[in-house]
Amino acid sequence: MATIFDKILDGALPCHRVYEDEHVLAFLDIAPLAPGHTLVIPKERRAHLHELSDEAGAALGRVLPRITRAVLAATGAQHYNLLQNNGAPAHQAVFHVHFHIIPRMHNKGLGIEWRTSELEDPEGLLSKMHAELAP
Ligand code: 5GP
Repeated sequence: MATIFDKILDGALPCHRVYEDEHVLAFLDIAPLAPGHTLVIPKERRAHLHELSDEAGAALGRVLPRITRAVLAATGAQHYNLLQNNGAPAHQAVFHVHFHIIPRMHNKGLGIEWRTSELEDPEGLLSKMHAELAP
C-alpha cells in the first residue's frame, strides 16, 4: 500500500527537501520534535529496515553522517539522536523505511524510556544470529 512517503517520492506531495541523490531523499519532518528534525528515506520502497537491499542500506549509511552534519550546522545543536522505528508496536507510523535525525536542544528532542534487563543466554542468541548471518 502506498504511504505518504511514496507520495512525497512521486512528487504528489510537497516536502522541505534537505538532500537528494539517486537512492536517498531527506526532508524536514512535518511535526518536528526539535528544530531541524529530518527524515532520511531510501528510494527503495520497503516498510522495514531488515527488508532493504544491501545497496539501499549502503546508500543510507553513506549519507547519514553528512546529512547529520548539515542538521547540526543549521541548528547549532551539538547533541542528537538517530531513531529508526520498525512496526507499529515500535512506534512506526509510516510504513516506508526512514531514519529520524533529531537534534537534542534545551528541553526539545527525543524522549527516551530505557528499560534495562539482565543479559540472558548470549551463546544461544549468538548461535542463531551467526547462522542467519552465514553467507
Ligand atoms: P514514525 O513514527 O513512523 O517513525 O515517524 C513518522 C514521521 O513522519 C513522524 O515524525 C511524522 O511527523 C512524519 N510525517 C508524517 N507525515 C508526514 C508528511 O506528510 N510530511 C513530512 N515531512 N513528515 C511526515
